[in-house]
Order: sequence, then structure tokens, then C-alpha cells
Amino acid sequence: MSEAQIIDGKVFSERVRAEVAQEVARLRAEHDLQPGLAVILVGEDPASQVYVRSKGEQSLAAGMHSVTHRLPADTSLDELLLLIAGLNEDSRIHGILLQLPLPAHLDQRPALAAIHPDKDVDGLHVVNAGRLANGEPGMVPCTPLGCMIMLRESLGDLSGKNAVVVGRSVLVGRPVANLLLQADCTVTIAHSRTRDLPEVCRQADILVAAVGRPQMIKGDWIKPGAAVIDVGINRVPFSDPEKAAQGKTKLVGDVDYKAARKVAGWITPVPGGVGLMTVACLLQNTVTAAKRLNGLD
Ligand code: NDP
Repeated sequence: MSEAQIIDGKVFSERVRAEVAQEVARLRAEHDLQPGLAVILVGEDPASQVYVRSKGEQSLAAGMHSVTHRLPADTSLDELLLLIAGLNEDSRIHGILLQLPLPAHLDQRPALAAIHPDKDVDGLHVVNAGRLANGEPGMVPCTPLGCMIMLRESLGDLSGKNAVVVGRSVLVGRPVANLLLQADCTVTIAHSRTRDLPEVCRQADILVAAVGRPQMIKGDWIKPGAAVIDVGINRVPFSDPEKAAQGKTKLVGDVDYKAARKVAGWITPVPGGVGLMTVACLLQNTVTAAKRLNGLD
């Protein structure tokens, strides 16, 4: 039996980044417009530091204006809001990204709400969530946007397909489901209270896993030939006892990849799948925001 085609995040993300760089060059040459991204990091969370560095480096590599604001962990909400207000007014900045999670004493809701919706390149402002739910143009969260680019370019027209999204978070599950609905799929959103999840998954022509539970989705939950998009990023110990004893860990998705690959028609690996698309789509969103803010879209 043939194995599923791999939807390679490296190939797709390189293509998106190249397109972004080309568009940035055109905007600079033809409109004297350099898209600008501001990333705000509060505190010293190690994973966040890696993500923020990567966002800064990749936006510079694409020819953008890029600023990173690193604030101490004890920053007050007022100080954070003041910075965001300044960036909202800054004409060189078209995208503002607040790296999450924030330190425990800071409520992320007022901070996200303070970002101007047209500069909200993470798509997390309620105005953008509302626009997406209503099918109106707005800023779309980066990971869901990445999932859709991979699906459309691998499968072509998605119209009429049964899509099952496992997970209903504001960050991934809900926006992916709304985007699939906009693409004329018949969409089911599953979550921790869903009854008989394996049977629900077996109905899916497109299965998106955004749960955060290592390898939860088994091979026999997958409809033969389905497209499987694994958003999950889970760090687990190695099964090899020697490596595990050394405290070494590896990344796995929410899908049992080996088993799923034997059944699915297309599948994204972890690592090397959706994760690589997230930053590429952030750059794309920043270009979109710059064009809209300057009446060029
Ligand atoms: P959340 O924890 O916010 O949401 C998880 C969702 O999964 C919830 O809706 C929850 O249901 C559901 N769920 C939990 N357990 C089960 C279960 N046993 N059966 C069915 N549904 C279940 O996670 P996120 O959406 O933020 O992230 C999901 C995964 O994606 C994580 O591994 C995260 O690391 C990864 N991620 C990857 C990104 C990337 O760039 N590739 C970006 C963002 C996230 P309920 O609502 O009922 O609790």
C-alpha cells in the first residue's frame, strides 16, 4: 500500500518567504513603503526568546523594518499598554505582535485588545476574530493561515469536503474551522467532550489536529486517503531508554505519524510541517497589513 504524500513545511514556508521578500522589494521600489514588524517580549521565557529571535531575523531577511521590544518580567500592564499605544501611532510599524504567554501577573486580554486591529498581525484581536467568523476580510491568525495554504496547494479546491478540526482554541481550532467553512467545507469541530472521537475523525476528508496531546490520533481513526494536518507540538522523552535516561527529548505531533502515514493521502510531519509556516505567515500578514494601511490592497 502506498504511503501518504508528505506536505513539507520547509518547501511551503520557503516559498511563502520568497514571495514575501519579492513583494517587500516591490513595495519599497514602487511605493517607498517598507513593511515594519514590532515584536514585544515580556520576560525571559526561553521558548518565547527563541521564537522572537526567529521572527526578528526572518523579517529582516525579507527586507522588512523590524523592531523587538524586550521588556522586563515585572513590567506593569500600564507600561505595556503605553508601548502598544506608541506602536499603534508609529507609521513605520504595520504589524504588532505580542509574544504569548505573558508573565502570570499580566492579563493578556486588555493587552491584545489595545493593539490596533489593522496592525494585529497575529489575528487575535476580537475584531479580527469577529471579521473571520462573519467571513469579512481581516487579519487571520498565522498558524491557521499556514494550514490553509498547505491544504489548498496540496488538494486544490476544498469545496464540499468533510473537515474535522480536533481542538477549539481561539489560537488554532476556531480560526481553522472558520477558514475551512469559508473554503466551502462541511466542518465539524471536536473537543474534549466530543463523543466517539475516533468515529468522528473517520468521517474526515480533511483532519486537522490541534489538541496538544502527543500522538493521540491513531492510524485507524483516519479515513483512507484523507489529508491530515498535524498542528500539535509536544515535547516527549525518547523511547530509547538510553537517550531517555540522559533526559533527551524529541518533538512529536498530535497524530501517530507512522501509523497515519500508511492510511492518509497527505500528511504534515512534526517537526517540519505546520510549525515552519507560522512565522512565514506572520511575515505575509505584515505585508498585507502594510498594504491595507496604505490603501494598496
Ligand atoms: P489549547 O490547549 O488551547 O486547546 C486544545 C484543544 O484540544 C481544546 O479545545 C481541547 O478541548 C481539545 N482537547 C484536549 N484534549 C482533548 C481530547 N482528549 N480529545 C479531544 N479534544 C481535546 O491548545 P492550542 O490550540 O493552543 O494548541 C494545540 C496544539 O498546537 C499544541 O500542541 C500547541 O503546542 C500546538 N501549536 C502549534 C503551533 C504551530 O506553530 N505549529 C501554533 C500554536 C499551537 P476543550 O476546549 O474541550 O478543553
